[in-house]
Amino acid sequence: MRFVRPEVGRHGGAAYNRVMARQQLGPATTDHPRAAVPRAKPRTKRGSTAALPWLGAALSVTLLIFGTPDIEAASGRGQLAVATENARSTHAAMQTLQAGGNAADAAVTAALVAGVTSPGSSGIGGGCFIHYFDATSGKTTILDARETAPASIVAADFEARPFASESRGKWVGVPGEVAGLHELHRRFGKLPWAKVVHPAVVAAQNGFQVSPHLARVVGWAKDAMRNDPSLRSLWLSKPLQGGATIKSPKLARSLQRIETEGPKALYEGAIASELATTTRGAGGWLSVDDLKNYSVTQRDSLHVAWAGYDVYTMPPPSAGGLMLVQALSLFRKDELRSLGFNTPAYQHALAEAFRAAIADRMRYLGDPNVEAVPTSALLDPGRMKRRRQRIALDRTHAIPRFGLEEHGTHHLVTGDAEGNVVSLTTTVNRAFGAKLTAPQSGVVLNDELDDFTLRTDVAQFNLAQSPNRPRPGAKPVSSMTPTIVIKDGKVVLAAGGSGGMAIAPNVAQAVIARLTFDLPLKEILDGPRFQIPTSESTILVPQDTSAAHIADLQRRGEIVGTVRFTGTAVQLLGNDGSVKTAAADPRKFGVASVK
Ligand code: GLU
Repeated sequence: MRFVRPEVGRHGGAAYNRVMARQQLGPATTDHPRAAVPRAKPRTKRGSTAALPWLGAALSVTLLIFGTPDIEAASGRGQLAVATENARSTHAAMQTLQAGGNAADAAVTAALVAGVTSPGSSGIGGGCFIHYFDATSGKTTILDARETAPASIVAADFEARPFASESRGKWVGVPGEVAGLHELHRRFGKLPWAKVVHPAVVAAQNGFQVSPHLARVVGWAKDAMRNDPSLRSLWLSKPLQGGATIKSPKLARSLQRIETEGPKALYEGAIASELATTTRGAGGWLSVDDLKNYSVTQRDSLHVAWAGYDVYTMPPPSAGGLMLVQALSLFRKDELRSLGFNTPAYQHALAEAFRAAIADRMRYLGDPNVEAVPTSALLDPGRMKRRRQRIALDRTHAIPRFGLEEHGTHHLVTGDAEGNVVSLTTTVNRAFGAKLTAPQSGVVLNDELDDFTLRTDVAQFNLAQSPNRPRPGAKPVSSMTPTIVIKDGKVVLAAGGSGGMAIAPNVAQAVIARLTFDLPLKEILDGPRFQIPTSESTILVPQDTSAAHIADLQRRGEIVGTVRFTGTAVQLLGNDGSVKTAAADPRKFGVASVK
């Protein structure tokens, strides 16, 4: 995720404020949002033209121009379950489970293989948040393995983003991925470390087939990738469409060392030294001491009891969990049910909750290790009650408007026969991170520090500086939302997603849909979801949304944009009686396997 300078959009200023005013509501429409209708001049059932002056332009808001994938998400029922955004990663993790591994073992395999086969999204040069449910103790544990800012970071440089290619090392945070996965395995794994790491070595060494999503990501990022000789020779020297096979022998050697030596192989010695030199050669600050001093943080999850469920999710430095917990705190299940699944009224109500959470994020969220984050105050029941009173079905509140970019990231879920579950989101931030590869070790370095907020972005909130500003050792605020829902001591849902600022609203929509309407996982993922943009419009709906649905949202004060694909994908694992179900999002060609 990256906030860029506020844009004076076509719907900014007076026009924007005018539509924030209370508007007369027509009767609610019942049109299914996926109904295909002409885009221009949407009409209500009563036949009145709902188009406002800004509508034509709002409808043309399209963040990305890639079509919806035509491969169905796999799903199934059984005792062992995996869902990831990449087929090879899912199958490797399932093999780990079938070889006697537990959910923690399978998650390590899945994440490391994903780092090889889906390297635009994640890898050992990145970081992750891990949420683990231990069936024996009935407790969840959160491991924060997010990247940190190097000790010698120069904060002032971040106000001049974007960095030129030769300064792209400034984006690089201290990678946490390997330390986090190793900690998960050390505490909860069953099989030997080498065994769960090995499938990633094999994938890198013997080669893997490029997924349609990866081919698409390379297409998006290819101009910037050209500046990095390793990325250029690995990814841009042959056509990838149609499933080319790629081998990453240098990365394979690094993974082999991690397999035999553990995390030390990356955090100390030759690889660490190369990561620091490479980053510094590109203007960054990463040092061997930063790597040596990296440690994983255990955090208390955010929790809300809702409609008989215990929802546990990611606390700061993620803003994602806050959004989910706030949305659940604002609405009762029967209220949401009465609005009807995915109706304009339902979407508008949730969108209001999400926009308010984004405003809280901008005002208050930073790394709790360096900034006092008032999490309890932000979730205070009195505050939520007052916020609920401000939300009306016929009025839209603005958040200050920002531009945003959506990129990489990968969410995966694993579950074993004992009932242990992992919900893990891993990322290098944007596609192929900083587009900076350590030439000998083949490690692609993250650009996670781009998640720090610009001073100009918080000026609209009347803040002189952001609580999420670059400081030595700080972790930038994230949107990643690995979530676990428990009922009667068992996991009934594990959820999470990818896609920058779209992560939290998408995960929240999926979780709320499941808990409120009890829909099948696959139906939830195949269905439409709305996004909360930070400029121009107040809500983005899929391009095939009906004109009547759009008009209904507009009568509630929403400025509606449409979008074809936002780079977001959600993976879900559920319990249906005594058997597990899992589903992967078709948007990124994800694959679920249940046995
Ligand atoms: N860096 C982002 C975050 O942690 C995720 C990367 C992305 O999907 O853009 O929120």
